Amino acid sequence: MKSFLKLEGVCKGYKEDNYVIRDISFEVEEGEFFSILGPSGSGKTTLLRIIAGLDSLDKGEILIGGKLVAKDSWQIPPEKRGIGLVFQDPALFPHLNVFENIAFGIEGLSKQERKRRVFELLELIGLSGYEGRYPHELSGGEKQRVALARALAPRPKVLLLDEPFANLDYELKRELGEETRSIAKKQNITVLMVTHDQEEALCLSDRIGILSPRGCLEQVGTPEEVYFTPKNLYVAGFLGRANFIKGKVSEGRLHTSLGVFSTNGNNPIEREPVLMIRPETVEFVPDSQGDCQIEKANFLGSLISYTILLQSGERIEMLCPSGKSFPLGVRGKILVDRKKIWLLTD
Ligand code: ADP
Ligand code: MG
Repeated sequence: MKSFLKLEGVCKGYKEDNYVIRDISFEVEEGEFFSILGPSGSGKTTLLRIIAGLDSLDKGEILIGGKLVAKDSWQIPPEKRGIGLVFQDPALFPHLNVFENIAFGIEGLSKQERKRRVFELLELIGLSGYEGRYPHELSGGEKQRVALARALAPRPKVLLLDEPFANLDYELKRELGEETRSIAKKQNITVLMVTHDQEEALCLSDRIGILSPRGCLEQVGTPEEVYFTPKNLYVAGFLGRANFIKGKVSEGRLHTSLGVFSTNGNNPIEREPVLMIRPETVEFVPDSQGDCQIEKANFLGSLISYTILLQSGERIEMLCPSGKSFPLGVRGKILVDRKKIWLLTD
């Protein structure tokens, strides 16, 4: 695998000395589905726009297919970058029908070739027979499929997706996300998607980059890596649910209210380390002599979230399949799987 999209030290701000994205470097491999996950306002759209060439950057460089497309204030125009773009709002041309919308970016082809390409794409996105419809005659999901076909028409090497499924219902969002991934994989298109939707990023991506609200890239890794071994408290707290238990280090071991743990040779520099325990890995065993107590239960549908009060006064969350229930106030002991806890020192 080789890197196809590369960012090196990219900075961008709208006001002087106030960067929205700060010193961002990452590489996306050819054919990889890579997501940038960050909260609203963290600079995701800004990042995508500068990769597309719709905005300039202040510092750093961007390479696509080994070719420099932007460096500091120098850049090549969007149409020379070989990219396809899909935004949250499909922004189809209202006065053009589906055929004309999809054919928009492939005017260079002969009439015959354009027709063949558009019909091929209509089949690919499951909208054969819709070529004569106008955007106002399409549902939200259908519009987004057409926007995807329009972006794919010129055979881009890189597809940039800006929260493309955000306006769709849950089921449709999942379905269209998986279809997009499968189309990109079959055609070996490199995808960079930006989203605030954790589930979408975790389920579709080969790797994820986590963006902080300040526009810094905090960690890059596979979905499992960023979820189970977050690099710092921000990533751990942002992605999924997590319990944090503080402790004191003495003689190379971390003493917490849940027991004594090895610090794995990690020597915290700035502050005491924190244990992260994902709530789905917590187990509770009822025991009248136990020093923990079920304090609260929240029904979440397929899961129940229990708040357990520890003797130390700390509280931890436990997630259980909703078939398994514990009465409020019941006493017991907590079991944590030592293989599933993670020590945060950053
Ligand atoms: P996201 O897509 O993650 O929600 P954006 O990239 O849209 O984030 O915005 C990041 C920050 O940059 C926000 O604080 C936003 O207000 C600001 N911003 C975005 N576009 C502009 C612009 N054209 N001019 C000034 N500020 C902008
Ligand atoms: Mg955005």
